[in-house]
Amino acid sequence: MHHSKSLEIYPINTGEADVKKMLDVFWSLSTETGTVTVPLLAFLIKGAGVPILVDTGFSNPERAMEIMRLGPHRTKPEWDLAEQLKKQGLKPEDIQYVILTHLHYEHCGKCDIFPNAKFIIQKAELDEAAAPLAPAALDVGGKALFYDRQDIAIIVGELWDRVVLINGDEEIVPGVKCVLYRNSHTPGSQAVYVETEGGTAILLGDIVRNVHLNIEQQIPPGLYYDLRSMQAALAKLRKDGKFFYPAHDYEVLRKFTG
Ligand SMILES: [Zn+2]
Repeated sequence: MHHSKSLEIYPINTGEADVKKMLDVFWSLSTETGTVTVPLLAFLIKGAGVPILVDTGFSNPERAMEIMRLGPHRTKPEWDLAEQLKKQGLKPEDIQYVILTHLHYEHCGKCDIFPNAKFIIQKAELDEAAAPLAPAALDVGGKALFYDRQDIAIIVGELWDRVVLINGDEEIVPGVKCVLYRNSHTPGSQAVYVETEGGTAILLGDIVRNVHLNIEQQIPPGLYYDLRSMQAALAKLRKDGKFFYPAHDYEVLRKFTG
C-alpha cells in the first residue's frame, strides 16, 4: 500500500540477559558452548500518525531469573521503558498500539503501563501462552515454556477490553503490517513489516536471533516450535525484507541507532 508518510523505527533496550550462545544456531550445527550477553529490545515506530510500540520488555529481573532460570538479567534506570519514551517526547498514555510479537516473558512484561493502548496479539499465541504444553519437570522457562503466568493473567484480565486478537496477516495502520509466522519461534509469533523510506524493515521478535546466521545463511536458530515451519519462515523473511531487526542482538542498536 502506498503512503506518503515516512515511517521510522527506534530500537529501545529494556534490559540485558546472559544466555547460552547455542540459542543462535540449530543445535546439531552448533559448536557454540559459551555465553553471550544480549539486549532485550522493544521498538518504537514513529511517523504512522500514532506512535506504535512493538514489544514491552520484561517485568523485573529478579522474577525473570527466579522463574525462567536462563542466567543473569539486568536493568538500568536509563533502560526504563517510560524513561526512553520520554526521550522520544512521548508518555506511556500516548501509545495507541502495542504490537506483541509473541508472549514470552521478555516481550510483554510492561503492558500495564499503557492506559490507552490497544494490544495486538495473534490468537494462536494467546492460546499457547494461556495453556502451554510444558513438561512439569522442565527446569527452565518457569514450567510454562517462557510464558510468565503473571503477564498472561494481566493480558486476559485487567487489559482484556483493549486486547485485539488477530488471526493471520493484518495491516494495523498504513505501512505497518503484522505477519503471522505460525509455529516458527512459537505457535503465534508475528513479525512486523514497516514500510520505511529505504524499503521494508522487519521487526522479527525472536523468529530470528542473528541475521547473518538465520537469514543470510538460512540456518535455523536454536529455539523453534516446528523445524519445517521455521525454515519456511526464514525463507519468506529473506525474500520480504530489506532491513532486519531481531530482538536480542546488539548489532541492531549499533546499526540502527542515532
Ligand atoms: Zn521468545
